[in-house]
Amino acid sequence: MTLKGKTAIITGSNSGIGLGVARELARAGADVILNSFTDRAEDHALAADLAQEFGVTARYIAADMSKAAECRALVEQAGRCDILVNNAGIQHVSAIEDFPTEKWDAILAINLTSAFHTTAVALPMMRKAGWGRVVNVASAHGLTASPYKSAYVAAKHGVVGFSKVTALETAGQGITCNAVCPGYVLTPLVEAQIPDQMKKHDMDRETVIKKVMLERQPSREFATVEQLGGTVVFLCSDAAAQITGTTISVDGGWTAL
Ligand code: NAD
Repeated sequence: MTLKGKTAIITGSNSGIGLGVARELARAGADVILNSFTDRAEDHALAADLAQEFGVTARYIAADMSKAAECRALVEQAGRCDILVNNAGIQHVSAIEDFPTEKWDAILAINLTSAFHTTAVALPMMRKAGWGRVVNVASAHGLTASPYKSAYVAAKHGVVGFSKVTALETAGQGITCNAVCPGYVLTPLVEAQIPDQMKKHDMDRETVIKKVMLERQPSREFATVEQLGGTVVFLCSDAAAQITGTTISVDGGWTAL
């Protein structure tokens, strides 16, 4: 399949799942716009590398997804948006009574509210083109809960709900919207949790990964950023034109338990 001629914006894509999704979209021929809140030479170099490797146009646009105006400016600056992947996200783990208010606000803003702002600007562009794909990166935590992740679970359930509403408001217009729900994927976000878990459980890296981190993932294997990218490319294909307003889990069986 080819996504040649389509422009994809992927929020939070200078690392992890976002970068993996951007790579797979570029491999499928889409022009890509990478994003994060930093504006370093290495961020722009990521876009240049993708352009060179896949022969597509690639740009990096710095915009902070915790700020409404910057979310909207990202899509406006892109000028065109056929595929919107709302992926930017952060995590904080704490009991509800100790959960810092500023962390709650930041998680809700980056993981949920940013998708509202980018989608609001992208939908008129998609309607004009008569074609569009919105893919929201939710989580297994958009469908189930874990203790100490109140803001993250609330935000990701919100993303699933927002995806359904977006699907209903665009149904029959050549536009689909779905939420992808990954289980554990080995990215910097997850890698950062390993040393703490090793200390807490007095286990080596392999044991902590299999026995603690992947305890809820029956496959006992991480999903990969390439698999997430492939799922997004599938959702952009003609085969997925009638898949809208739903979730696709890429979680090694987590939500089947
Ligand atoms: P990551 O930390 O590698 O990537 C997060 C991305 O978001 C980075 O590019 C970061 O720069 C960007 N970001 C953070 N704050 C931002 C801001 N204010 N403005 C713009 N960009 C910002 O983590 P990841 O694991 O690749 O996470 C990507 C998405 O996948 C998140 O929404 C996360 O919740 C979701 N997810 C991850 C896992 C997992 O196991 N890794 C599982 C389920 C869902």
